[in-house]
Amino acid sequence: MKVMKFGGTSLANWQRFDMAACIIADAAKEESVATVLSAPATVTNGLLAMVDTALEKGDVAAALGKVETVFRSLYGAAFAVLNHQETQQSLTQLLDAQLSYWSEKLQGIMLLGECPDSVRADIVVAGEKLSAALMVNVMEAKGLSAGLLDPKALFLAHGTPMESTVDIGVSKPRFRLLGLDEKRVWVMPGFTAADEQGKVVTLGRNGSDYSAAVLAACLDASSCEIWTDVDGIYNTDPRVVPDAKLLSQLSYQEAMELSYFGAKVLHPRTISPIAQFQIPCYIKNSFNPAAPGTLVSSHPDQTGLQVKAISNLDNQTMVDVSGPGMKGMVGMASRILASIARSGVSVTLITQSSSEYSISFCVPTVEAKRVKRALEQEFELELKSELLEPLVMRHQLAIVSLIGDGMRTHKGVAAKFFQALAQASVNIIAIAQGSSERSISAVIEQRKTPHAIKACHQGFFDVQQYLDVFLVGAGNIGAGLLAQIAHQQQLLYSQNISIRVCGIANSNRMLLQAAGIGLDQWQALLESAGEAFDLPKLLAWAKEQQLLTPVFVDCTSSDEIASQYPEVMAAGFHVVTPNKKANTRDMAFYRQLRQSALAQRRQFLYETNVGAGLPVIDNLKKLMFAGDKLLHFKGILSGSLSYIFGKLEEGMSLSEATTHAREKHFTEPDPREDLNGMDVARKVLILAREAGMPLELQDIVVEPVLPPEFDSSGDVAAFMQRLSSADAWMAAKVAAAQAQGKVLRYVGEITTEGCRVGIRAVDEHDPLYRVKEGENALAFYSRYYQPIPFVLRGYGAGTEVTAAGVFADLLRTLNWTREVDL
Ligand code: ADP
Ligand code: ASP
Ligand code: MG
Repeated sequence: MKVMKFGGTSLANWQRFDMAACIIADAAKEESVATVLSAPATVTNGLLAMVDTALEKGDVAAALGKVETVFRSLYGAAFAVLNHQETQQSLTQLLDAQLSYWSEKLQGIMLLGECPDSVRADIVVAGEKLSAALMVNVMEAKGLSAGLLDPKALFLAHGTPMESTVDIGVSKPRFRLLGLDEKRVWVMPGFTAADEQGKVVTLGRNGSDYSAAVLAACLDASSCEIWTDVDGIYNTDPRVVPDAKLLSQLSYQEAMELSYFGAKVLHPRTISPIAQFQIPCYIKNSFNPAAPGTLVSSHPDQTGLQVKAISNLDNQTMVDVSGPGMKGMVGMASRILASIARSGVSVTLITQSSSEYSISFCVPTVEAKRVKRALEQEFELELKSELLEPLVMRHQLAIVSLIGDGMRTHKGVAAKFFQALAQASVNIIAIAQGSSERSISAVIEQRKTPHAIKACHQGFFDVQQYLDVFLVGAGNIGAGLLAQIAHQQQLLYSQNISIRVCGIANSNRMLLQAAGIGLDQWQALLESAGEAFDLPKLLAWAKEQQLLTPVFVDCTSSDEIASQYPEVMAAGFHVVTPNKKANTRDMAFYRQLRQSALAQRRQFLYETNVGAGLPVIDNLKKLMFAGDKLLHFKGILSGSLSYIFGKLEEGMSLSEATTHAREKHFTEPDPREDLNGMDVARKVLILAREAGMPLELQDIVVEPVLPPEFDSSGDVAAFMQRLSSADAWMAAKVAAAQAQGKVLRYVGEITTEGCRVGIRAVDEHDPLYRVKEGENALAFYSRYYQPIPFVLRGYGAGTEVTAAGVFADLLRTLNWTREVDL
């Protein structure tokens, strides 16, 4: 004989109920079947709510009406098929009688103003009774001989009325007295048992799974099937992680730990009886009966996985018992645990500090008050004499656990676990590892549970790494970056890197899409986006979506946005930017930025601040880390000025060269921003700070490209008109340099005395002599690199190289995980 249990969702309405009936009837062709049924979905919650409504003297008729509706429509639809008048009559009578019984009980509760748990149990188990009664008739209508098994007569249970445990030793012999061969299909209401006095008790929420397991043990069943609404046991809750993976097989111990630590798919006590009697257990989907499901058995693991699954147990309270009296006091832990056990509460997790100064443990929050009373009673004297500090109760916590038989023989699992939690900015309040080493648990704040679960799932099971990009500033570089992402997305995906652009904003509009914006039409989508750009809103939205690794890419030149990077990082984003403003604000902000990044464990990457895509910052950083010291730096740091000075060398006038550079989009739209030298000054400042010099922007001596008294006022057109009046001044400088065999270059310099930016004449031995046509060159003279400097050379401006540099930084946010990954 085999046992088949159907949960509430599998019986929620007639269509489902009938599907379950067909599955049972099919199975009964092979061997006789004992089924265990839950109440239809929503009924148990509805019944409990009904009791609470009576206690609050609320609208009980409405509350009862909700439950009535479920059964009336279930029975009504069944009658259309059953088509047998006597059956219909007896079922209607049963339902009417139950409804009047409930109604009477509710009146009593209202009058008394209280509801003992024994009454609550009696009310709530009737949901399963009505399911079972219908199923017996449906089976008979299908031509099968069917009978009811009464759990009150068969299951003896100990515990509290709402949470009891079946005594299999006493219950099993009772089945021998039944004539089990008489029927092909037996139906038992789940969730239900009776105590020593014969009073009805429940087996706890979700208890029908446990009923099935106990029934299987009592009948020495060939197997126990738990039919539910998912294809089996997943490696984590599929509601939290949509790409959770189905497990084909688990050991009894793994399933036990998983259900104990919160996986709702099985009641925590289910496994123990079937493991004891070595009964194979299948978790199957009544919506998809053909799927093989998950087998829980004693078979050794074949997968080789260290971590099989991740679970979460919410609504936990952590109790800290601490005080000077704890040190060395023998038997403290056992007194604590014994007093809690006496109060009928089971402890979910325990940790003790090695100083023995404190013991902390978790209990379900609903039991917290009871636990507090029990401990205060037990330790009354110690608390009074201050040998113990007042008990600390922390609520709204959750336990996240890793489960797997394979963890026993492997090192580094815990490290990876904590790393994943840290990466998701989840603080660990306590940790515990079972001595079986089949589970490792961390206590965290409950509000962080989905984040924690997702991060762990990604860390342990997902080969894909995700990048969720928010781009602010959709001008040349921003658009260039999007084009490059669009082009590379597919290839990177095949390399297990998933890039989603979840947000694009310009100064007016903001487009947000958690699933990722289609990059072939982002302009049109942004154009029609209704929302105005609003940074706090963007940060709040990203938080709501619970994205694990969002990256904020700032392609604006806005000082205001740069000033908010610390808030952006605090909201969980890495920051990647070519915008030089953040790194050139005052030193206090510069330090704050780095501290925020460190504190939030986020990356702040700005390789494109200097030399566009050239690897300048990274190399300089590495040299400094390796103990090098910058002695002298000089470089051509502006693509536009590199072009203009190259043209001057060829004999072009300043105004002509500037006009050409503008036409080729080498300069900023307003060329004064290049010619005034400030752009180069900012770059020099960034390099100097990187080399350890705590300078401010005003410390950089700036000599513009224009004559000292040149009038730079007015709009761009007026300025460009006036520019030719500087041609002769510049031509004279060029000629003077050429007379000495030199050329002019616009150079940024860092020396031990300070930094300056200006026009320099350089000879052919100088590394900058041949640098023109928009190229950049940077020569670092350092303790390790002298007298020949370390030189970087290449295009230092332009949409493509800059966007590629930003793209590279974007990908480095993934390396962050790898750098510390174990
Ligand atoms: P039933 O009504 O059949 O007893 P439950 O709702 O009690 O069903 O349990 C099934 C649900 O458990 C699934 O729908 C799923 O949302 C949830 N669940 C949580 N963790 C897991 C897991 N690791 N594997 C499968 N389901 C899980
Ligand atoms: N109906 C009960 C509950 O919802 C028992 C069960 O379905 O397992 O908790
Ligand atoms: Mg269930």
